[in-house]
Amino acid sequence: MRVLITGGAGFIGSHLCDRLLKDGHEVIAMDNLRTGTVDNIAHLSGHNRFHFIKHDVTNYIFLEGHLDAVLHLASLPSPVDYLNLPIQTLKVGALGTHKTLGLAMDKGARFLLASTSEVYGDPLEHPQSETYWGNVNPIGPRGVYDESKRFAEALTMAYQRYHGVDTRIVRIFNTYGPRMRADDGRVAPNFICQALRGDPLTVYDDGSRTRGFCYIDDMVEGMVRLLHSDERLPVNLGNPSEVSVLEFAQIVLRLTRSPSEIQFVRPTDARTADDPKVRCPDITKAKRLLDWNPCVPLEEGLRRTADYFRIKLGLA
Ligand code: UDP
Repeated sequence: MRVLITGGAGFIGSHLCDRLLKDGHEVIAMDNLRTGTVDNIAHLSGHNRFHFIKHDVTNYIFLEGHLDAVLHLASLPSPVDYLNLPIQTLKVGALGTHKTLGLAMDKGARFLLASTSEVYGDPLEHPQSETYWGNVNPIGPRGVYDESKRFAEALTMAYQRYHGVDTRIVRIFNTYGPRMRADDGRVAPNFICQALRGDPLTVYDDGSRTRGFCYIDDMVEGMVRLLHSDERLPVNLGNPSEVSVLEFAQIVLRLTRSPSEIQFVRPTDARTADDPKVRCPDITKAKRLLDWNPCVPLEEGLRRTADYFRIKLGLA
């Protein structure tokens, strides 16, 4: 296959580049490098089946030659990023999805949208299955991300129904691993870097909010299986082993053997506005349709991620 990956220099996008190249495909990574970095794909430069194009997908995309698949991952999924760049976040979900769907239609390519568990908002159904419509505050600070992805899903379904584009939608739950940015602001890089530096772990509020953490290799495996499947409705991918943020902090401290303390902080900015109180994927559908199950235990995944950050932070 000849595949375009938008957000190809980002965290999940760059791992997908690696995987699809390994599977023998030709990969074109597209990224505006606003939050993605060439460091994530530097090891691929010179690879004869890999190309990189610096481009912002909110603008018209011109690409020569055929394409078999478009994987649309360009996005600003970190709360720090979408709070700093709210309009860009809405544009990439709306205009970027429009441009990439148009490209897929023009090329007769399969289209995969990277959507998110954020479409469920602060959920009133727990765990969240794909049939749940969600509980999102459209006008809150977090709404720029949630609504951009909800719009992206609606647009993807419209292109499928009205233009016959062959689409897939993955709802990605919290995912972590090497190549996240140290300053990304999400809980895994924050806690790991704080623990490695000996700084206090910043647990927001009382640490009772819950998440399941999926290691990047499991996520990529699920996404590739979905791409090759026949399922045209959204599929959840994530790890259903639910832990509280406080438990997560304690696990990180134990694994890194860090002397850091836990500090309960009450952010006064918008970081925790509409922060979902609980989140856990119902992955029954992915198990049944894709024969997929996350298999990297949290402690193993965290060890690998800590090894990555030790080098990044110059502590190895
Ligand atoms: N969080 C925290 N301390 C941090 C960063 C995040 O307590 O330094 C909390 C955050 O409020 C949320 C959870 O960890 O309840 C997961 O946050 P993240 O930004 O990683 O992802 P989210 O699931 O909110 O998109």
